Amino acid sequence: MTSTDSLALSAAATSNGRDLLTTGTFGVINPATGEVFAQAPSVTPDQLDDVFDAAQNAYLSWRIDDEYRRDALRRAADVIESRTAELAPILTFEQGKPLADSTLEFNLAATWLRYYADLDVPRQIIRDDAQGFEEVVRRPLGVVSAITPWNVPIALAMWKIAPALRAGNTIVVKPSPYTPLATLALANILRGTFPDGVLNVVAGPDPLGAAMVSHPIPRKVSFTGSTSVGRKVALGAADDLKRVTLELGGNDPAIILGDVDVDAIAPSLFRSAFANNGQICLAVKRVYAHESIQPRLVEALSEIARSVKVDEGTVDGAVLGPINNKPQYERVKDLVADAVSNGARATAGGKPIDRDGYFHQPTILDQVHDGMRIVDEEQFGPALPIISFRDEADAIVRANRSEYGLTASVWSGDAAHAAQLAPQIEAGQVSINMHGGGVRPHLPFGGHKHSGVGVENGPWGLHGFTELQVIAGPSRQ
Ligand code: NAD
Repeated sequence: MTSTDSLALSAAATSNGRDLLTTGTFGVINPATGEVFAQAPSVTPDQLDDVFDAAQNAYLSWRIDDEYRRDALRRAADVIESRTAELAPILTFEQGKPLADSTLEFNLAATWLRYYADLDVPRQIIRDDAQGFEEVVRRPLGVVSAITPWNVPIALAMWKIAPALRAGNTIVVKPSPYTPLATLALANILRGTFPDGVLNVVAGPDPLGAAMVSHPIPRKVSFTGSTSVGRKVALGAADDLKRVTLELGGNDPAIILGDVDVDAIAPSLFRSAFANNGQICLAVKRVYAHESIQPRLVEALSEIARSVKVDEGTVDGAVLGPINNKPQYERVKDLVADAVSNGARATAGGKPIDRDGYFHQPTILDQVHDGMRIVDEEQFGPALPIISFRDEADAIVRANRSEYGLTASVWSGDAAHAAQLAPQIEAGQVSINMHGGGVRPHLPFGGHKHSGVGVENGPWGLHGFTELQVIAGPSRQ
């Protein structure tokens, strides 16, 4: 695609229904080339007042009509589906992921909108009789700030937008400065679907996020990103007791028991670790493999890693694209080099790819042990350490030896046995013979320990954008 038309479209929108007079722009890099390929409008913290005022005004009427909100969410899903072919390349250019993955993100966005359109906002009548009535309702919070990362910008933004709007809030979304364009384009195509000020998207560097946390108007901050920034968000929000939901980092373990059919599970395990180049918070990041199957597993995963096509996301057949940004690329290189210099063996990959942009070989690491940085730290890239274990109980202790607790998996020929082990693992979600199998619109998603506070998705995600209110009085019969 010559990106000009779509990108002009995306860069034009800042706040739904209105153009902000932005004072500047910033360059967006195509990670496949390492070059700036488009400019995004930059909103300064001062201009945020305007956006939050619009969101506040819109809230007064948006919160009133439940059926109208359901319909608007359904219309938004229709619009996204009808324009995905235009939107997906924008995401691929700025994020790096293959076009099929970008398309999937927009499809997921539509799925989430429809799920929430169908979900009722709970209202419970506890008592309503001749003596009196008692009702418990869920009230929207008002305006909410949503801050998102660069790895899965559209789907993760929609985990916030759909439930927040369904519940009657209005929202201001700030995408990562690495991937602002697709989210801006999304707001632009949804002009007219939502009233002015309901869905607002602002782009800018990190301090804009901090300003969205400290701003007096929003009542809540829904944040997805790193644990270190999540802490800052929690501290900033504490000043005026804003509600927070924090979806943070992960270092997900997969425990592979000795009774698995290695060849049968290897492709699925590989995808769970390497999809989006491992840049998914819930990617498998540490494999604990029983010593009886560890050598064969290393071999099977290495064969797949060597055969995967790595190329620009716009190239037919590309399974993996570039890493999204230079700091992340440097970090993956560092962690792999650190592991190798400490005795790990790269049985596939192990190096950056010698071409422009931020490409790295999909890497399998053998002879790895706990205590290496690549095991202990969140790596968020296309490298997978395989660590051997003898005793199941020991594997669980080691899997739990992490500040993170986002998701995990157990793989076994005996699914019932694996399911019995699951509750021993400290993670918000444990899948059996798959990884991340519980990421569905109707299931809660959230991290334990330093992987998060609160959950998204399902009715629980909707509740997170509301507050309980009791209404009670004398009989109304
Ligand atoms: P990041 O924390 O650096 O940035 C996330 C967002 O926060 C960006 O929009 C950024 O501009 C903004 N930001 C930066 N400083 C801020 C501040 N002081 N106040 C407010 N906002 C600020 O994360 P990233 O590098 O974009 O994304 C990768 C991280 O996100 C990884 O740690 C990954 O595990 C995590 N992640 C978690 C989930 C989840 O659901 N748990 C999902 C995806 C990604």
